[in-house]
Amino acid sequence: MMAKAKKTSGITRRDVLTGAAVAGAAVVMTSLPLSSAEAVPVPQKWDQTFDVVVIGSGYAGLAAAVEAHDAGASVVVLDKAAIVGGNSAIASGGYNCADPERQKPQNIEDSPDLHYQQTLAGGDFRGDPAKVRYYADHALDGVHWLEKLGVVFEPKVYTIVGALHPRSHDPIKNGRGGAIIAVLKKQLDQRKVQIRLNCAVTGIVRQEPLAGEVLGVQVKEKNNVLHIQAKRGVVIATGGFGADVAFRSKYAPQYDEKLPTTNVPWATGEVLTYAQDIGADVSGMDFIQLLVACNYFTKKYGDIANLGIDHAIFVNLNGKRFVAEDARRDILSGSTLAQPEKVYLWVADDRAGKRYSPERTKMSLDKGLCFTAPTLEELAKILEEKLKVPSAEFLATVKRYNEMVASGKDNDFGKKGINLKAIEQGPFWASPTQAGVHHTMGGLRTKPDTAQVLDRNGVIIPRLYAAGEVTGGVHGTNRLGGNATGDCIVFGRLAGQTVVKETPRT
Ligand SMILES: Cc1cc2nc3c(=O)[nH]c(=O)nc-3n(C[C@H](O)[C@H](O)[C@H](O)COP(=O)(O)OP(=O)(O)OC[C@H]3O[C@@H](n4cnc5c(N)ncnc54)[C@H](O)[C@@H]3O)c2cc1C
Repeated sequence: MMAKAKKTSGITRRDVLTGAAVAGAAVVMTSLPLSSAEAVPVPQKWDQTFDVVVIGSGYAGLAAAVEAHDAGASVVVLDKAAIVGGNSAIASGGYNCADPERQKPQNIEDSPDLHYQQTLAGGDFRGDPAKVRYYADHALDGVHWLEKLGVVFEPKVYTIVGALHPRSHDPIKNGRGGAIIAVLKKQLDQRKVQIRLNCAVTGIVRQEPLAGEVLGVQVKEKNNVLHIQAKRGVVIATGGFGADVAFRSKYAPQYDEKLPTTNVPWATGEVLTYAQDIGADVSGMDFIQLLVACNYFTKKYGDIANLGIDHAIFVNLNGKRFVAEDARRDILSGSTLAQPEKVYLWVADDRAGKRYSPERTKMSLDKGLCFTAPTLEELAKILEEKLKVPSAEFLATVKRYNEMVASGKDNDFGKKGINLKAIEQGPFWASPTQAGVHHTMGGLRTKPDTAQVLDRNGVIIPRLYAAGEVTGGVHGTNRLGGNATGDCIVFGRLAGQTVVKETPRT
């Protein structure tokens, strides 16, 4: 049945606007004002046909594509960027799950139940309990699946910033999030599943704007408008909208253009609007996470020396500590925004300095974006010179912290014993750091055990699936560090497994 939406030529007003914005991956792509929203009509003919169309080539999209292919479907992955992987490709790749094989030898108590409870509580109980349950129960299986495909995780787990418990798995030796993307891409290459880059989805085609099945997508590729049919279904895996200032400040006006972001420029929200055009519901759109992870001088995520939280403290420009370094991410970013110049110094000893990407730390050092010195006194001198941090205050703060480590209790801010480790082994490090928009916890509402997209009445939109950061429901108001990788892999796989169960349309 033909849709009733207005269309006078092959190109809608939205095609033109979006097409201009997608003229290259380097361009910052913003979503359109709601006034231009219109459902895409059913085309007279389809240009191409696959069983499953996956939109987005991050963790969630590639996981869905592998699963859908392996269950027998023909699959295409579409991405508007010029490179594969979205935010996943630049992410740290920390992946949370209870994992007895790794945690027992480290004497760490854990279980899917504890992970479930901490995820819900960490998000102020605003996540969907059924969805969090599915996630916590399937997260370990996701690690094993990735390992089987070729991802190598470190033998030991740790607590990534804001994770609240030592269950973060790190593919650090192999390039972090990029290592997971490289493995998934290789798997798709071996299966001859096409990942089409510079191919922007500009609308989702449903039989009627607010009724019937989803039939496929409209794309803009090399200045051509094409319609791609999905005989079994469409999987939306377009990630978050952290880099989309117009879109994010619609929901959280305080996060305007003055805030930096850790995201790739193409982390934008237009596909959420297209899904809403055909009736999809969203939840938690104003739950937006800031991470204290942008360099003070350049405002870029890639320029920080990530120094961990155990042999490390956060110190403000007055040389004072101001927060428990293992607190929730919203507390870390909120307290940082309240410091002079909204900046803190991430101060660590060499054990922490070595944990995360020594190459990145060296690069940051070479560019003068962080500092190191063989002794604390010499580091204090540098910080006084460069940033006017009073050295006596700074040295007194480190001394007091070390004394509290020795006593086993952080009387000032309550950092947990497990993370309370001294800053005493040189060389010492300091990285001036700021908060930036990092993760958007809200998004499409999906059915927890199938990844089907729900409409505003809670009814399934037939043949429409979604996974990853484009969805809401797992993280509530505050995502635990390390919980997104698992969210994307678990629900990406689920979307791929369930979409193939649809009977192909003839
Ligand atoms: C710097 C950084 C570090 C992080 N580190 C961690 C970590 O250690 N642990 C953790 O749990 N989480 C981490 N996260 C969060 C986590 O990595 C992300 O939530 C996750 O990568 C999102 O994956 P995704 O598959 O949902 O989307 P993405 O990986 O962002 O992929 C979405 C893709 O969709 C494409 N797309 C968007 N719109 C369109 C369109 N209209 N047409 C076609 N394609 C489109 C985009 O181009 C993009 O390639 C980090 C995030 C960042 C930014």
